[in-house]
Amino acid sequence: MLLTVTTTHRPATDLGHLLHKHPDRVQAFPQSFGTATVFYPEAGEDRCTVALLLDVDPVRLARSRGRKSPDFSLAQYVNDRSYAASSLLGVAMADVFSTARRGRCASRQELADSAIPLEIAIPVLPCRGGPDIAHRLFGPLGWSVEAAPVPLDDAHDDWGDSRYVDLRLTGVVRLADALNQLHVLLPVLDESKHYWQGPDEVDKLMRSGEGWLATHPDAALIARRYLGRSGGMTRAALARLAELGDEVEAAVDPAEDDDVLQPAERRVPLNTQRHEAVHQVLLDLGARSVIDLGCGSGRFLDRLVRTPAFTRIAGADVSTRSLQHAARRLHLDRMSERQAERVQLFQGALTYEDERYAGFDAAVLMEVVEHVDPPRLEALEHVVLGVARPGAVVVTTPNGEYNVRYEGLVGMRHPDHRFEWTRAEFAAWSDRVAAAYGYTVERRGIGELDDTLGTPTQLAVFTRKEGSDD
Ligand code: SAH
Repeated sequence: MLLTVTTTHRPATDLGHLLHKHPDRVQAFPQSFGTATVFYPEAGEDRCTVALLLDVDPVRLARSRGRKSPDFSLAQYVNDRSYAASSLLGVAMADVFSTARRGRCASRQELADSAIPLEIAIPVLPCRGGPDIAHRLFGPLGWSVEAAPVPLDDAHDDWGDSRYVDLRLTGVVRLADALNQLHVLLPVLDESKHYWQGPDEVDKLMRSGEGWLATHPDAALIARRYLGRSGGMTRAALARLAELGDEVEAAVDPAEDDDVLQPAERRVPLNTQRHEAVHQVLLDLGARSVIDLGCGSGRFLDRLVRTPAFTRIAGADVSTRSLQHAARRLHLDRMSERQAERVQLFQGALTYEDERYAGFDAAVLMEVVEHVDPPRLEALEHVVLGVARPGAVVVTTPNGEYNVRYEGLVGMRHPDHRFEWTRAEFAAWSDRVAAAYGYTVERRGIGELDDTLGTPTQLAVFTRKEGSDD
């Protein structure tokens, strides 16, 4: 099985630096199931192509699984694994190009961070769902996709097409993103994952999906197929993608795909429930001006902007990349002058006093406090409730007790979380902060209620006491 990656970025031979593989060399990398060979069929200034050729040894593949694997049978020895690109190719690629996949390149870091013209070819790719599914999965990531069905037999047209496609992707994409996308999407297309899934599978998906999966319109389908239809793990993955604050449409039309989701997954995603709950709190408070602190990619801001009751809206975040996403989502560049006056985005850290945070009826801290190191949390409390002093502050944060409900989740819901409070911890924190800054506080839950564990998200509304300011 073969995968080639070509760039026309000049000098094209920089591809060797990005991949940490010299264009003059042919290198072999032993895998548990065969051998991966890397070589460059062409390496010029204008165009450079790297090829990853994988020789699979079906006997070794079968042995590497052990007798406990669910399909210990002849099919383990006689199958298409040696010829068709599959999840094995995804795994070999991840191993051979591991540094490139992390986006690191000491000698060409700027290039590693940049989108460059790429062409990717996989001549024989098993594709369950046919060429359409390849378009659906790669298209939204900015690739132009050509997926030609491979005929079952050249000599017998009437036999029709095989389940394989000849895949060509062309686009201007960061190399690390391209490699991670292939790593995740090859097994998703193939849908016959060759290895057992460990408890860290969801973590691996989160790492490989960083920066592109949460916003993919088919994120739910990808998570479900990648995680081998384990409903619990898929739910864990969806919950964590939702934690990223981005769009994950968990509903896949069952008519379009036979991956019929479990009823639990067809429920409203948690982040949508969170947005609805906080939106309603703001309306109930009668807030006219609202600032979303730690607004991320601006999904909640978008909801605020579409609500005429809010006459002044601001979003602040420490991450410029998130703010760029938010600006794009809100079409800030195409806003009328009146709208542009109504909506502001700015960069700022919540642990430093900033007068731009002041003067709002309400401030939102949605899924933000748990990203702040505990020793810095007091600074945030001082900046928001002590200095900016909005009429109300709406805080949401995960309920750590609920995590046991997420099968396959080890550790916290998101790698950047510094803590996930129990209900008692959140109550103690919010009571202390309210008392210290002259606010009253009211708490409630968001999401499905478990009798003993509570709800997945906790919410607190702080309201400034009359006369508590000079
Ligand atoms: N509120 C959004 C995003 C939550 S993710 C939502 O609910 O969807 C947490 C966000 O907080 C990230 O965008 C992160 O960049 C931001 N953040 C974390 N620490 C911050 C700090 N000290 N100052 C400002 N923003 C911070």
